[in-house]
Amino acid sequence: MSNEYLPFARPSVDEDTIAAVGAVLRSGWITSGPRVREFEQRLSEYFGGRSVRALSSATGGLEIGLAIADVGAGDEVITSPLSWVATANVIIRAGARPVFVDVDARTRNLDLDRVGDAITPVTRALLPVDLAGLPVDRDHLYEIARRHGLRVLEDAAQSMGASWGGRPIGASGDLVSISFQANKNITTGEGGCLVLNDAEEARRCELWRLQGVERFADGDLDVTLPGGKHNLTDIAAQLGLGQLARLAEFTERRRALARRYFELFDRSLGCELPPEDFTHSCWHMFQIVLPPHVPRGRFIRAMHEVGIGVGVHYPAIHLLSLYRDMGFKPGDFPIAERIGASIATLPLFPAMRDTDVDRVCEAVSVATRRLLAAPPGSGS
Ligand SMILES: *Cc1c(COP(=O)(O)O)cnc(C)c1O
Repeated sequence: MSNEYLPFARPSVDEDTIAAVGAVLRSGWITSGPRVREFEQRLSEYFGGRSVRALSSATGGLEIGLAIADVGAGDEVITSPLSWVATANVIIRAGARPVFVDVDARTRNLDLDRVGDAITPVTRALLPVDLAGLPVDRDHLYEIARRHGLRVLEDAAQSMGASWGGRPIGASGDLVSISFQANKNITTGEGGCLVLNDAEEARRCELWRLQGVERFADGDLDVTLPGGKHNLTDIAAQLGLGQLARLAEFTERRRALARRYFELFDRSLGCELPPEDFTHSCWHMFQIVLPPHVPRGRFIRAMHEVGIGVGVHYPAIHLLSLYRDMGFKPGDFPIAERIGASIATLPLFPAMRDTDVDRVCEAVSVATRRLLAAPPGSGS
């Protein structure tokens, strides 16, 4: 068995892309310019011709999306407690209140059957998350939105390459925010994009993206709204172009590795596996929920000892101090709490070998059995 360290995620950047990024560095223009416009053009083609603006993060995309949806003080936004904290933090930063709805135990995404009960007269938007790149049911989601007259801001940070109804996530729907952070399915180092409904929203996105500045032909400028600093560099956009060209290949490889996990995983361990979805998911992560009585910290340490990285995505948001201070407490969203306390992300990235999956499955089996045999409190 190889002792080479296996991280849970690693970007694949080819030499042609590195050379192309080098050319941008030599060109004399490195911040937002022609490479960003080219990247936006390619992204728009991928998203079926919709308007897209590149940004320096998907968090920025969510903030801008909320601004465009006119979410502010006094408004409520319904979201998932089982996500990266960015998902809920942006709602607070907009001056609105996050309203969590528990997740479905199987999909680990917002339980759409419970969303109706959380809608109030001040609900403004739905902010669902596709955890691990498994899409929330878009038909059901938009049916709820239409029925209640709500905007939808999709936190599709993990969904690049995923699809619904045979079309890429982002090719339909309302506002869609996607991340190109280093661990995501394609990367610009840090970065993201927001998919918008029309040219007017795209123009507003440009204002929110860069200080609200509008420039005129005579060299004058004006500012009409307090925009932030969310523009992507040409350096990053060139990296993104190299990555986008390989998206289909990356997704295919992720799916093949996920299939191998299902084939080799020891089902007698009592771990909960993700849904076996090979239609919609882009397999951003392969996540298991450990059996009761297997302490996650000790599981992660045992895996690390044999050279395998394991991630935690994510502890339930409402139990973090900021949210407890707002009044959320243990017991509010029991499914998200249980999953958040025991979920573990196993290695999955396009450059992984088939034999790496074999090695991970074997190590999970050994570590889990050992921890199940050890009474709580005893040494591992
Ligand atoms: C990565 C991620 C974000 C934030 O994306 P950034 O590009 O890092 O700002 C938001 N939500 C989810 C679910 C994510 O995984």
